[in-house]
Amino acid sequence: MHLENRVLVTGGAGFLGSHLCERLLDAGANVICVDNFFSGTRSNIEHLIGHKRFELIRHDVTMPLFVEVDEIYNLACPASPVHYQRDPVQTTKTSVLGAINMLGLAKRVGAKILQASTSEIYGDPQVHPQPESYWGHVNPIGLRACYDEGKRCAETLFFDYKRQHNLRIKLARIFNTYGPRMHPNDGRVVSNFVVQALLGRDITIYGEGTQTRSFCYVDDLVDGLMRFMAAGDGVFGPINLGNPEEFTIRQLAEQVIALTGSRSRIVHRPIPQDDPHQRRPDISCAHDVLEWAPRTRLSEGLKRTIGYFDALLADRTMHGRLTTAVA
Ligand code: NAD
Ligand code: UDP
Repeated sequence: MHLENRVLVTGGAGFLGSHLCERLLDAGANVICVDNFFSGTRSNIEHLIGHKRFELIRHDVTMPLFVEVDEIYNLACPASPVHYQRDPVQTTKTSVLGAINMLGLAKRVGAKILQASTSEIYGDPQVHPQPESYWGHVNPIGLRACYDEGKRCAETLFFDYKRQHNLRIKLARIFNTYGPRMHPNDGRVVSNFVVQALLGRDITIYGEGTQTRSFCYVDDLVDGLMRFMAAGDGVFGPINLGNPEEFTIRQLAEQVIALTGSRSRIVHRPIPQDDPHQRRPDISCAHDVLEWAPRTRLSEGLKRTIGYFDALLADRTMHGRLTTAVA
């Protein structure tokens, strides 16, 4: 990366965005973080405020924005089912209008732009593992559609801006990623299980726990995003980024219990509508084109995540406020 690069990160106060802002600053960039704090928090980026190359703008990406930048990482969008279903219309608007506004900005200032797309565009997949060539199996009117279809429409917009306006785009399809700075109330499975285990509360498995996911540690994912942005303009994707090691949700619960030494019981809750049965990325493209593969094993990443939540929960004042968001 060039030292004087000005980089915009939308959703920069969220889980992934805050790590990305930090790594971009470490690499010498000038970082503008844009967020409306829908699911992100100021505390995620508090340590960056005051850094001479960091700037925070409170802004909703559904509204136009003008800033002079060289690169844009478009991450703004709640990622947890519990949160993106809280205001589904706003979720679709964030993906679609957010993409239009950020693509418009990229066009105007000649910036490169990376979209944080998702494995959810594959829906409940009938091809396993999922290669980028798979078109997916999405319910367009279900509870997850506000996120899935919003992200799919954003992908369309990215490719049409490339074809129609010759924009330099990058489309990353991110699979389940976890790590420190997930919100304790985030509602996603890793943060839920870790917080429940540390507090000795019941661990809530939805359904039988036979559904699978593949979990990528945040540092690996951020590394993949930055490599993608740094790759030549001919590398525009879509590219899957995730960890191909696949686990059932029950196995995840058992690992969390073992690593925390918790006495929590496993309880079962109804499986949410359209919950994908299995998910694992085919990452051969990322491997060949970006020379990228995740390095962190689940047990190692979980230990670091547990360490983070343990420290957070040591602040007893948090406890009253801690209800893990359960679907
Ligand atoms: P997150 O919810 O922690 O972060 C999203 C951030 O976007 C939050 O800070 C939120 O306040 C902000 N935001 C939401 N709506 C906005 C709006 N209208 N204007 C401005 N800011 C807005 O989620 P995350 O896990 O950090 O995900 C970041 C991105 O990566 C999302 O686009 C998500 O779809 C994508 N992604 C994440 C995962 C994952 O497993 N973490 C997987 C696939 C895709
Ligand atoms: N899940 C669960 N208990 C929880 C939270 C999630 O069993 O407390 C399951 C959920 O049903 C899904 C998987 O864990 O099958 C991953 O859920 P998450 O919300 O993290 O992300 P998704 O991949 O579904 O978007």
